[in-house]
Parts: sequence; C-alpha cells; structure tokens
Amino acid sequence: MGQYTKSAVKSYLCAMELLDGKLASKAIIDSLTLKVAQSKTEGKKIPHLAAVLVGNNGASETYVGAKVKTCAEIGFKSTLIRLEDDVTENRLLSVITDLNNDPDVDGILVQLPLPKHISDNNVINAIHPSKDVDGFHPVNVGKMVQGLPAFVSATPHGIMLLLEHYKIDTRGKHAIVIGRSNIVGRPMSILLSANTQPGNCTVTICHSHTHNLRELCLQGDIIVAALGRPEFVDASMVKPGAIIIDVGITRVPDTTKKSGFSLKGDVKFNEVAPHSSFITPVPGGVGPMTIAALMKNTFTACQERNDN
Ligand code: NAP
Repeated sequence: MGQYTKSAVKSYLCAMELLDGKLASKAIIDSLTLKVAQSKTEGKKIPHLAAVLVGNNGASETYVGAKVKTCAEIGFKSTLIRLEDDVTENRLLSVITDLNNDPDVDGILVQLPLPKHISDNNVINAIHPSKDVDGFHPVNVGKMVQGLPAFVSATPHGIMLLLEHYKIDTRGKHAIVIGRSNIVGRPMSILLSANTQPGNCTVTICHSHTHNLRELCLQGDIIVAALGRPEFVDASMVKPGAIIIDVGITRVPDTTKKSGFSLKGDVKFNEVAPHSSFITPVPGGVGPMTIAALMKNTFTACQERNDN
C-alpha cells in the first residue's frame, strides 16, 4: 500500500472504502494464470506480448519491467526490445512491421513517451489493430466510441474493471474527468458515459482551459483525476461521499527515499479520503489495474488471432 499502510488508512478513515488495485488486479491475474495453464494442457497457443522500449527513461523502465514481470507470473511469453534514444523513426517503424508480421506475437506495446524526434501518432498507427493491446490505434478508439468490441486503452479499461470489481453502481452519477489525453481522460469520459455498467454516467470532461474547475468538481459524484499534477485535488474540491479515482503518478524528489523520489498522485489523499466514499491510493490503485487490463487485452488478442 506504499506510504499508506492498511492499518494507518483504517485508523485514519471511517466511512470510506479503499479501492485496492493490488487486490482487484490479483483476481484478474489469477484468472488469466488459470486460463494459460489450461491452454497449455490443451496444446493451445500461449499469449506473447512484445514490448518496445526506446531510450532509458527511469519511469518507462519501471513500467515496462512491471509488465514483463507480470507476463512471466501469468505464464505469457514476452519479448522486450530495447532501442537507443537516438533510434530513427524509420527504424522503429520497421521493428513494428516485423512484429506485425511475426505470427508468434499476439500483442505489441511501445512504451510512451517517445523521444521528441519520433511521432507518437506514426508509431501508434503502424501497429496492426489486432495486436494493438494498448488500445491506442484509431481503429480501436473508433470501435470503443461506437461501443463495439475493441482493445480499450489499458488505464481507462483498468479503472472500469476496478469499478466492476467493487460493484460500484455508477448509473446516473455525475463524473468529472480532469484531463483529456488520448490515453486516459478522453477514453475514460467515453467509457463512463457508455450505456453499460459501470457506465451510464453524466460526464463533464475538464482540461487546462476549464473555468471554475473547483465548482465543477464539487458537483462530481465521481472524480477521475488524470492531469499529472501532484496533489492537485484537495478536500475543498470534493463533495462529501464522492468516489475518487486518482490516475496521476508523478515522481517527486524525496531525500528520505533510497531512490531519491516518491510517487505522488493527483489527489491529496490524506485530506480527500475522509470526504470520499471510495478512493484509490497511489501507488496501489490505478497502476496495477492498468497492467491487469493490458494482460487481459493480450489474452484476448491471442484468442482472437488463433481461434479465427
Ligand atoms: P497528459 O497527456 O499530460 O494530459 C494531461 C491532461 O490534464 C491534459 O488534458 C491537460 O489539459 C490537463 N491538465 C493539465 N493541467 C491542468 C489543470 N491545471 N487543470 C485542468 N486540467 C489540466 O497526461 P496523461 O498521459 O493523460 O497522464 C495523466 C497522469 O496520469 C500523469 O501523472 C501520468 O503519469 C498518469 N498516468 C498513470 C497511469 C497509471 O497506470 N496509473 C497511466 C497513464 C498515465 P490540456 O489538454 O488543456 O493540456
């Protein structure tokens, strides 16, 4: 539970319930592990995730490392392709073409952010939609918007799985999504407004040009904070009993830590938690759910490619 030990959280809070991403993701990982064991017994193909990491950004290394480790835990095959920071866009695109053409590879992820000289869009568009387990390709985004089966961006997909795990009835609730990025805020707003459970929310999507953000947040039955500003959402922005989903992860310098940094969410946890009915911690909330959703997508990609 990172800086919030379970006992500290329990003694500090009364009515609120922690949305424990470690616990919820474990249920998904365990179920996938069983399915892979069954596939092995039946002689079926084992899912294979290929991850591409450009450069040596510390946070990206950590995220990719966690994904590769989870593949091993489940019994998936994984391949990590490391490319230098100064790799050309053409070289990266040709690596993706090779992975698209490799019949053994079921899912491809290219860890973002990429160096400035490479276009994220060109790279995302080069991944074949059937292997786009990160759900960033326009074909998958379009299908998701239409409510058709699609690979949904792992972070918003993971948040929906978390809401489902805790059986949170979101129907008719007013959700405030702070952030409109293509990988988190925008797909989150679409999923929450879809005619599904979880879903059926009335959604307000906010960004850096939004006026009266505090007043809007105070109307929110659900707040999804995905802006990447540590501890931005404080208690004065939260209506009592609101459901708080903290997506933010920022490395903040911390001399008390061996690593030299600590991870901060976009929500002032200690202040906001007593006002909320449910809240995700950072770390241990949305992060593990993102990985679980990616693994689920990879399993589906393998099934779809090999059962058709
Ligand atoms: P991003 O691409 O930088 O987008 C941030 C969004 O927040 C933008 O839409 C921006 O508005 C908006 N914003 C910035 N400052 C604001 C303010 N003061 N008021 C209102 N809106 C504001 O970031 P992202 O990729 O979506 O990621 C957001 C955070 O989530 C980051 O901390 C990231 O590390 C974290 N994250 C976590 C996971 C996970 O697995 N837990 C996964 C992905 C991302 P404009 O559009 O107007 O610029």
